[in-house]
Amino acid sequence: MKAGLLAAPGRVAVDERPDLTPQPGEVIVSLAACGICGSDLEKVKGNYRATQVIGHEPVGTVAAVGPGVTGVTVGARVFAHHHVPCYACPACYSGAYTYCPSYTKTNLDPGGFSEQFRVPAVNVSHGAVLPLAPAVSWEDGTLLEPAGCALTAIRTVGLPPGTTVMILGLGPVGILYARLARTLGAGWIGGADPSPLRRTAAGRRGADATVDPRNAEKVRQLVQLATGGRGVDLAVVATSAPSAVPLAVSVVRRGGTVNLFGLPEAGSHLEEDLQELYLRGIKIIPTYATTERDIAEVHSLLAAKRFEVRDLVTHRFPLDKLPDAFQLAAQPEKALKVIVTGPSFSG
Ligand SMILES: [Zn+2]
Ligand SMILES: [Zn+2]
Repeated sequence: MKAGLLAAPGRVAVDERPDLTPQPGEVIVSLAACGICGSDLEKVKGNYRATQVIGHEPVGTVAAVGPGVTGVTVGARVFAHHHVPCYACPACYSGAYTYCPSYTKTNLDPGGFSEQFRVPAVNVSHGAVLPLAPAVSWEDGTLLEPAGCALTAIRTVGLPPGTTVMILGLGPVGILYARLARTLGAGWIGGADPSPLRRTAAGRRGADATVDPRNAEKVRQLVQLATGGRGVDLAVVATSAPSAVPLAVSVVRRGGTVNLFGLPEAGSHLEEDLQELYLRGIKIIPTYATTERDIAEVHSLLAAKRFEVRDLVTHRFPLDKLPDAFQLAAQPEKALKVIVTGPSFSG
């Protein structure tokens, strides 16, 4: 089989690998499609420390199940989540599932950009193989994981009805955050991104207003105008650009929250006036990744047509063209979500 892997720093390649046979408890999935995530691009740049496996947004059909697997049938259309929490440690007991020490220890093998991939037994037993409803297309399915990240973030920071939100960075995950916040009852939602393509997509059923953040003053003006000079309840940093953090702090209201949501650039540091944070009561809350439970929740919303994601997939590449797909995905002015398709893809 063909497998798309991180070949060397700065490069992805498609290699030949032996076909997979499931061991007890495991599931083998034949790839339909997998989205390229911003974190995959950071791994290629050598900027991301957690794992070197690429591809964690895959959907496909179940090709084989190992002995002892129940509830997953061969031929089923599924999404597979790459990491699972243990649900039995202090982090998990406190609800911080994605900060569980076991969370990143499991992964899809050899990764989501592979004609076939193995889902480890621990993931299978925790419900990380999720059957897709007929209403959820392959394209929709590739956005389940990033939408799950947005839901995990929203749950963590809280979104009381009418919450005003400013999202800095309108990549696919920033836009999903906006749309999910809209579905879940947010009030005014603003967005900022230098790319006109991304601002336009965010305006469809997501943001009420968008702005180019290269002029930071314009971002502040937009928020001031929309909130009667108070600032937003929640500012979301959905970009790796370190300059977005002080901007977020400057547009949030007194007592409000800054959600550190996008993967920060490796080696970047927080330089904030601590007395200002203290006196204005600004909370800075990081949220990382998602769980199979939140993904299942997002899947229900998608299946019920409570929000739409499909239009965010702008480009599809067959697995053979993985390097081209990565090259395009790194160009925010040209592409939103780029997906890579495998043997089970149709339609
Ligand atoms: Zn992702
Ligand atoms: Zn745990």
